[in-house]
Amino acid sequence: MPSFKCADIGMDCKFETKALTKNGLMKKIQDHASNVHKITSVPDDLKAKIESAIK
Ligand SMILES: [Zn+2]
Repeated sequence: MPSFKCADIGMDCKFETKALTKNGLMKKIQDHASNVHKITSVPDDLKAKIESAIK
């Protein structure tokens, strides 16, 4: 199951999440980014960073 930790992309944040699919996971990450980090649209370089941090 793909999982992601905010700390893995250098955020000072304890958020971690997992989902059945990578697409589902990206959606959860985007919700978190927008609610908590006020990043409403994730730039491509950050998206690449997130994808490489997904395990
Ligand atoms: Zn976070």
